Amino acid sequence: MKTIDTHSHYNLAQFDEDREAAIARMMEAGVGTICVGVDLETSKLAIDIAAQNETIWACVGQHPTEWAQEYDAAEFADLAKGNNVVAIGECGLDYYRPEERAHKPEQVVLFRRQIELAIESGLPLMLHIRPSRLGSPEQSDGGEYDAYDDAIAILKEYKNDLIEENAPSTSLRALRGTAHFFVGDKRIAQEFLDLGFHISFSGVITFVKEYEEIVAFVPLDRILSETDAPFAAPAPYRGKRNEPAYVPEIVQKIAQIKGFSLEETEKRLLLNAKNLFGI
Ligand SMILES: [Zn+2]
Repeated sequence: MKTIDTHSHYNLAQFDEDREAAIARMMEAGVGTICVGVDLETSKLAIDIAAQNETIWACVGQHPTEWAQEYDAAEFADLAKGNNVVAIGECGLDYYRPEERAHKPEQVVLFRRQIELAIESGLPLMLHIRPSRLGSPEQSDGGEYDAYDDAIAILKEYKNDLIEENAPSTSLRALRGTAHFFVGDKRIAQEFLDLGFHISFSGVITFVKEYEEIVAFVPLDRILSETDAPFAAPAPYRGKRNEPAYVPEIVQKIAQIKGFSLEETEKRLLLNAKNLFGI
């Protein structure tokens, strides 16, 4: 494995037809991945897929748009103990669509339970935060970074509690993670960096020019690479189903912005993922 896609979904139906072949393509490309659950069933499937493949790990949790499903705390706590389970999520807040925004309180409850599981289990959080704002960081369209602001406030509250409990050294380990599919601006990025979190960039950085400034801003040792496959394929695969095998396109873009070679960038991003997820 020379490069890693820290967030993908071989566990979703889009891979039902050719899961084995897609995994083989990833392996051939020297890519490993973290297979991310969006509910209990897909979390279990992520664990199964990880168990069968040396360079696949699992992340277990319930997506914020799955707020209507009951959260089975005992089952998730049990899954979190699995050997190949390296993170909790994807969890967070999703205010993108009005029908989701109408259920902020339910989303917040679901998010808090998973933050608590992350603290208990010592695993990092895989955050899915999607604000109501549309467009790229430089476009002012009247939208807001609302979901980011709410999530950051909640994370700060837990972080401060941990520090007050007189565990400042453990708190860094106990509450950490990554902001998956980052679409915020510099202010939001700085908030996550201050919290000790990493920031994950997806394929959108290959075709939305405004993200270059954010990638340039975040220190290389806090960046992760991801595809979010089957969604959001990078250039030149836009419009196709995305695959972890395409993550080198994203790493290449980060390398170009940061002014490092592809090889050096792959090495550093892989090290970041190893440090955060203990893989
Ligand atoms: Zn995802």
